[in-house]
Amino acid sequence: NTSVSLSPPAIRVRPLTCAETRRGDRRVVHSLGDGTIHVSAARHDATFGFSAVFDVGASQEAVFEGSGMRQLVELAIDGFSCTVFAFGQTGSGKTYTLMGPLAQSETQPAAPGLLGLMQRSFACLLEQSRTRGSDLALSASYLEIYNEQVRDLLSPGPPCTLPLRWSKTRGFYVENQLSVDFESLEAIADLLLKALDHPLAGSQRRQTSAHALNRHSSRSHALLTVHVRSRAGGGQSITPPTWVPQPSACPSKQGTLCFVDLAGSERVKETGSSGELSVEANNINRSLLALGHCISLLAKPRGKRTHIPYRDSKLTRLLARSLGGSGVTLMVACISPSSHCLSETLSTLHYASRARRVTTRP
Ligand code: ADP
Ligand code: MG
Repeated sequence: NTSVSLSPPAIRVRPLTCAETRRGDRRVVHSLGDGTIHVSAARHDATFGFSAVFDVGASQEAVFEGSGMRQLVELAIDGFSCTVFAFGQTGSGKTYTLMGPLAQSETQPAAPGLLGLMQRSFACLLEQSRTRGSDLALSASYLEIYNEQVRDLLSPGPPCTLPLRWSKTRGFYVENQLSVDFESLEAIADLLLKALDHPLAGSQRRQTSAHALNRHSSRSHALLTVHVRSRAGGGQSITPPTWVPQPSACPSKQGTLCFVDLAGSERVKETGSSGELSVEANNINRSLLALGHCISLLAKPRGKRTHIPYRDSKLTRLLARSLGGSGVTLMVACISPSSHCLSETLSTLHYASRARRVTTRP
């Protein structure tokens, strides 16, 4: 019954892009070591403290090892609900951190060193599953929340909207979502590429590109959940006699590892667009504001806490367990070092500072 910090959030600063360098953007974000980040520009001068800061030069491996991601994978195997979410404005490096440049490259797969938190976690899980044999089974589901609708990214054909329900035993859950077993890194990588409607994938979903994730990646929240089922007693696979009732003979653990690529945070302020776009912006507002609201309420001391309004958005319903209850959650806040992104960077850092005070009881 120990409580652990929701995060502690890790901060990742991406390098200036070629376009930003060409435009002559200045670097206004500097890591001072010791988990301190300094933002300095004409009228702003602020210092933030975090437990893990990954500066411009940090490798994907350093982020995996230094953020606590490996421990999160191990906890999922032990039956915990684990979540990692990437937060930040569009272009700040969320997808890069989670998946590497794979999502962007049209023609060739990413170099192994550039693979993101997801692939590194899959590799860890598969390694464990090899050593444990049939005692560990892995499956994945992939959803997006777009315009306050939950859609299955793994179902073939046009995306269908799925109902989000609640039950006493399961909490919030998505009805009829597809879940696919996987046993190799190639299988899960192909699954991701298909869902992303990527040319490198073995086709199938390509016709539906208008709805595919990459077309509105900054406007939808994507949630990839890996379900980890492990039988107790790991390793010893002594087959019980057939008359032994299975459930009591093999109590199993079921953990989850959920990767959340949030919509770009800058949309929160977007107003004035008309029709479809404004509905979309409002829905992103709703989800991210609801998430921010839940986080700030959760950040209050336990005794002073009021009701947490998870029901305010689909995103917070789906993340309810990870945020408040029995989950272990790692937040990676992504920021750009550019002077052009200053106000978004400051708001991301404030958001992350608030998340730092949240605790859960896994
Ligand atoms: P987001 O998902 O937050 O919108 P992306 O992950 O797509 O942002 O990143 C935007 C651009 O910056 C991409 O071209 C990506 O390859 C590049 N990028 C992001 N983070 C890094 C990094 N740590 N190192 C090198 N390039 C990066
Ligand atoms: Mg992205």
